[in-house]
Amino acid sequence: MSQLEIRERPSPNYGSRGEPPNVRPINMLVLHYTGMQSAEAALDRLCDPEAKVSSHYLVEEDGTVWRLVPEMQRAFHAGVSCWQGERDLNHVSIGVEIVNPGHEWGYRPFPEAQMRAVELLCRDVVARHRIPSYRVVGHSDIAPDRKSDPGELFDWPRLARAGIGLWPPSAANTARGRGRGVGLIQRTAALADLARIGYCVTTAAEQVALAAFQRRFRPERWDGLVDLETCLRLHQVRMAVEAAQAAETVRLRSRFN
Ligand SMILES: [Zn+2]
Repeated sequence: MSQLEIRERPSPNYGSRGEPPNVRPINMLVLHYTGMQSAEAALDRLCDPEAKVSSHYLVEEDGTVWRLVPEMQRAFHAGVSCWQGERDLNHVSIGVEIVNPGHEWGYRPFPEAQMRAVELLCRDVVARHRIPSYRVVGHSDIAPDRKSDPGELFDWPRLARAGIGLWPPSAANTARGRGRGVGLIQRTAALADLARIGYCVTTAAEQVALAAFQRRFRPERWDGLVDLETCLRLHQVRMAVEAAQAAETVRLRSRFN
């Protein structure tokens, strides 16, 4: 499959992205799992006016892609959320729901046909809106106290190879630090890295934010504890974010000169 076929299933659940001159540009992609027992149940809910939830797209396990809300409209998928200090993320994001029963109903691997469709869809979205790699996130990254989707089985490295989101290669020796405790200085540095990457960390919710980071970037263990491997991984991801941000700054500057 090289061309993506998109079916229409319009949802009434959307709003405006704002009135000119206050329209914020689309510059973020949020990936979810549906967390429901079937694709049909998820589609029904995302189109139910009572539920007041939606997404722009839904990708079934067989790779079928549905459009529920046009991209120029604001879908209701992120809820109370925060990334890089910014809130109201529905205004600036595209939301993609990926069918999976989720942790509540029997979390399972995402099939190849589904991942292929997710990759094609996201590659197109990211290219058209020029969404920077450090603004491709999972729902749990932006709402770690409430959400765990798309979860630790989601193949973020595959998407990164296709140019969607970040996946810095982890050094071969970092796994040796898994479960190994660290001192206060390393812990402080780790939390600073976490915030620099984009996680909105409150003192009350440090552990859930760390667990969200681990699900995403160190999925072998997501206990929310700061072990040595987590420290090293945080540093790698922070460096990758900063490099990507510097490249984005150069790109924007050259565009305006
Ligand atoms: Zn979600």
